[in-house]
Amino acid sequence: MNHPMQCRCGMLKGYVSHPEKGCRGVCYCKDCQAFAHFLGTTDDILDEMGGTDIVAILPKYVTFTQGFEALACMSLTENGLLRWYASCCNTPIGNTSRDFKIAHVGLVHTCLENPSRTLENSFGPVRMRVNTKNAKGKPKSMPINTFVSILRFLVSLIRARLDGSYKHTPFFVSDRGTPVVPPKVLTSIERERVMNAV
Ligand SMILES: [Zn+2]
Ligand SMILES: [Zn+2]
Repeated sequence: MNHPMQCRCGMLKGYVSHPEKGCRGVCYCKDCQAFAHFLGTTDDILDEMGGTDIVAILPKYVTFTQGFEALACMSLTENGLLRWYASCCNTPIGNTSRDFKIAHVGLVHTCLENPSRTLENSFGPVRMRVNTKNAKGKPKSMPINTFVSILRFLVSLIRARLDGSYKHTPFFVSDRGTPVVPPKVLTSIERERVMNAV
C-alpha cells in the first residue's frame, strides 16, 4: 500500500510505493539540524534531542504527483548532501547524495505525516540512530539494530547500482544524473548563520 507524501501546505504531493522497503532512522548530525534551521521551522522537524526522523529508501519508490515545480534543493557546502524541500512552505522532503548512482534518499518525516497512516504503520519502528554524539542528550543507543539496518540498506544500494535501477529517481535527470533543480549552495556567511543556530 502506498504511503502518501505531501508538504505542509499541500501543494507538493506524491507517494512512496513499497514503504515496507524503507528503514526508519533518526539522525542527530549537525548538518541535519542546520537544514532545519535553514528552513526556519525546527519545532516540527527536530525531536527534543535535535534528531530528525528519516526513512531511508531507494529513490525509485518515490513519486511526485503534483506541485513538482515547488521542489527545491540546497546544500550546506559545495560537496555536501543535496537537501530537498518544498519551496512553497519550506517543508523538508529528503536528502540524497550528489551522485545519483548512490540510490539513496532519506525522506524527512515531515512530508510523511498523515492522519490515516502513521509512520510506524507504513515503515515500522525506528531501527537505527546515527550521529548520536551530536544529540542534545543521550538517545537510547541501538548499535546492533543500526549496524544490521545499514548493512541491509547497503546491499539494496549495491543491487540498484548493478541492475541500473538507480536511474529511476524523481530527483535527477535519469540519463545524465544532474539534479532536476540546481542546488543552492549556501555562502560561508549563510552557512555560519545556520550552523551557529544549532
Ligand atoms: Zn507546500
Ligand atoms: Zn544527519
